[in-house]
Amino acid sequence: MNQNTALITGASHGIGKAIAERFAAEGCSLILNCKNDVEKLQKDAEELQSRYGVRALTLSCDVSDHSQVCHMFAQAANVFGSINILINNAGISHIGLLSDMSIDEWNRIISTNLTSVFSCCHEAIPHMVRRQSGRIINISSVWGNTGASCEAAYSASKGAVNSLTKALAKELAPSRIPVNAIACGVIDTRMNECFDAAERATLEEEIPMGRYGSPAEVADLAWQLATAPLYLTGQIITIDGGWQ
Ligand code: NAP
Repeated sequence: MNQNTALITGASHGIGKAIAERFAAEGCSLILNCKNDVEKLQKDAEELQSRYGVRALTLSCDVSDHSQVCHMFAQAANVFGSINILINNAGISHIGLLSDMSIDEWNRIISTNLTSVFSCCHEAIPHMVRRQSGRIINISSVWGNTGASCEAAYSASKGAVNSLTKALAKELAPSRIPVNAIACGVIDTRMNECFDAAERATLEEEIPMGRYGSPAEVADLAWQLATAPLYLTGQIITIDGGWQ
């Protein structure tokens, strides 16, 4: 039986939901987090439990709030003992000129997309180091590699996630804990519902693969990273249909 316990932030929708399903199909115990759609997440967790026979605990918290993250990890430890796979997936976007952005909007993006990764790693790492085993996978973006006009704060947050991934990989390699990131291109989730049909068609024409990626494809890659050789660490792996 699979002994892995994975904590996935932002598991109520899109990529996080697909990762939860993929990891459940592999027999992992799950701790599923979100902030808003708590009832939906609970129903999804019950479905995964009955379909795959795995344990699935839901813990709502705002991952941008350090004290809430600490509380979530304490609750998770009470139920599962320890977590050996951490998927930092929760994230939000913001489209607009930097000069039109308020400091509160900036702080919301940075705390949700970047500080959350610090907080979750901060809480997960001591247990992993004690056991000299664990995996950390951060869900990042191609905009963290290249930067995007009108998404400066988002790009900055994901660029920092990429640097954090590389630095932490070096810090944790002696403890046999790989840290990697997945830099997504355009994935078919509600994050891209802001594009109308014409904008979507234009975007799809720009992507050599000719379509958006699916959340299930990102989930497949996350599972491959979760089971990859330990020597694969500090990598930012792009999944974008050849786009960037
Ligand atoms: P999504 O469908 O909007 O899902 C985002 C998830 O994050 C939801 O489950 C949401 O849950 C959760 N979340 C948001 N803020 C949170 C908070 N403060 N605390 C806890 N959970 C929170 O978006 P997605 O496309 O799946 O995005 C997942 C990750 O992929 C993000 O990090 C995003 O930046 C990255 N990404 C996506 C794309 C893309 O094209 N879709 C491209 C590159 C990178 P609730 O709203 O229920 O709380």
